[in-house]
Parts: sequence; C-alpha cells; structure tokens
Amino acid sequence: MDMSFDLNRLTRENIKKLVPYSSARDEFKGEASVLLDANENAFGSPLPNDFNRYPDPLQLKVKKKLTEIKGIPAENIFLGNGSDEAIDILYRAFCKPGVDNVILVPPTYGMYEVSANINDVEIRKVNLTANFQLDLDKIADQIDGNTKLIFICSPNNPTGNSINRQDIETILTNFDGIVVIDEAYINFSRQKSFTQELAEFQNLVILQTLSKAWGLAALRLGMAFSSKEIIAIFNKIKPPYNINQATQNLVLEALEKVDQVNNWIRETVNEREWLVKELAEIEQIEHVFDSDANFILVRMQSPRAVYDALVAKGIIVRDRSKVELCEGCLRITVGKTEENQQVVSEIKEFYNL
Ligand SMILES: *Cc1c(COP(=O)(O)O)cnc(C)c1O
Repeated sequence: MDMSFDLNRLTRENIKKLVPYSSARDEFKGEASVLLDANENAFGSPLPNDFNRYPDPLQLKVKKKLTEIKGIPAENIFLGNGSDEAIDILYRAFCKPGVDNVILVPPTYGMYEVSANINDVEIRKVNLTANFQLDLDKIADQIDGNTKLIFICSPNNPTGNSINRQDIETILTNFDGIVVIDEAYINFSRQKSFTQELAEFQNLVILQTLSKAWGLAALRLGMAFSSKEIIAIFNKIKPPYNINQATQNLVLEALEKVDQVNNWIRETVNEREWLVKELAEIEQIEHVFDSDANFILVRMQSPRAVYDALVAKGIIVRDRSKVELCEGCLRITVGKTEENQQVVSEIKEFYNL
C-alpha cells in the first residue's frame, strides 16, 4: 500500500473535464424581485404552499442547520436523495467502468454491490472475520493500483456491531484511495462518529442519513461529509435540484426537534437491551449478536420456519439465514415496546414455550 493521497489521480478524467449544468439561478447574483429566467409558473402552485420555484441546488439553509447540530462546515457537507445517491456518485466520480475496482467487506449493506454493478465496477470481496471485524491482511492483499474505494459500514448492517476504530484508522492511514464509512446507525452506537476526524484524513468520506434515528425515511435525505475538494466533486456531478423543496422545508422543521429524536434513541437502546435479554433466554436461540444499531441479528434453530410463522401473524423481520456468515440468522428491527413483546412471544410460541 502507498500512502500518498492524490485526489486528482483518483478522479475520473471525464469528471475532471466536466462542465456542470448551470441552472438559471446559478447565473445571476444579487436580489431579484421579478423571476423570468427559469420558465416557472409565476402564478403559484395548486397547493396551500408555493412550490412553483426551483429549490436551492446547494440546500444552504438545511446545511446551516446541520452545521449547528454536527459542527461540520457547509462546504464539507453533501446532501443526496438518500444515501443511495451519495453511494452512486462515489462510483461515478472515482471508478472507471471495466477498469477500476472497489473493496467490499461482506456481510454488509447490499447497496454498495448493486451500485457497483450498475456502474460496471469490479467488486473485490473480503469477508469480515467470524466476529464480524475487518480482515486487514486480506484487504491489503486485494488492493492494487486500480482500487479506488473501500466501503466500511459501522455499525454494520446486518450484523449490528461496530467495526474496531483502530482497524478503520489503519486503513485510512495506509490506503491511498477513498475510505467510505457508512454511519447510518451511528446514533445508536457506543462508538463515536468519525466526523471529528475529517481534518485528519483527506481520503475519508462519511455517510449518514435521516432515514433511521431521525425518522424521516420517506423524505429521502442522505448526507456525505468529506473534504471540501471531494464535496465539490459530488456537487458537480449531482442532478442540479436533487433535494426537492418539500423535503428541504420539512427537514428544516424536523432538525429543530433534536430532543425528541434523542428521546427515541434512548428508548430504542433500552428496548434493544430488553430484546437481547429476552431472546437470549430462549433455548432454541443459539446466539444474539451484540448490537450498536436499532436492530439485532439472532441465530436460531429453523430460522425460515420462524420467519414464516411471524409473517403468518403479520410480523415482518428480515431473513438473513442464507447470507454468508449470517447462516441461521434473522435480523429483527427494534420496534415499540408492544411490538417487541409481540415478536418475542410469537417466537416463544413457535418453539412451544
Ligand atoms: C438504511 C441504510 C442507509 C440509508 O439509506 P437511505 O438511502 O439514506 O435511506 C444507508 N446505509 C445503510 C448501511 C443502511 O442500513
């Protein structure tokens, strides 16, 4: 592995040369009272609120609020239509189809692989170890001059554990491509976020989302935090109006409710610990994996039959029993108290307890 990070080398030629779309609102500076530049409907919208004007392409009001909450400057923030958009942009910015490759560390979030396939980028898989940690030696073996990205999900989906911070730092210091740390579940974790390390690592991209702890999955708002140079590349590639006005308005309102969200996080963590304790007492349950997320991975006897029995009662969990290293496992999201009680009692009933 080589230690010199060179963003210019990593970025695809077509992206370096790209002249981004220039919107009507990009082309004037100053105060405007008559807007006849964007072919909008000047009369308004057939709705109680006006949505007739194109939204702010850089979502600066939302970013300002995120800066207050997270202490990250706006120039280090990218907002996407879900984290999926940030993942796709990473491939399009840095990975030449048919030439470059990325490292994935399964079992992990499926979207990294799907997005690689859409972009025709080679995937090199290095399984996590038996205790769901990084296999640093095997990762190092797989890296070559065309390896552009490594995706690390921490806390990891579907296993629920956090990845050792020391191991992530080892990769950050030794890999000259980009290290993507997906922190979708960071709010539920005992480990701290990498957001305070942005100044230290030029090759760090952190993904977070409003879809989980913030309870805004339907609004589709994903965040990427990185150096201002990398964020500038993302902004150049993204569709000009990727975050719609309704989402920007509602997110601004929601970001005022930090206390409500923190209460839900505390409650979720308490419920998670209750679920762990209850499930661990069931004899047919072989292992309840330690979780830093809002779900738990559980290894049990007859997982598919348990899954079907739950579905028959209208309870849907995720069957991960055919996933390598997750054999025999279901992934159960932590719900409200009654829901958690229900899932436990139905599992007990299945085992005739
Ligand atoms: C749920 C999830 C996301 C969130 O995706 P959005 O597109 O922002 O809803 C991202 N990464 C992981 C690992 C997830 O489990």
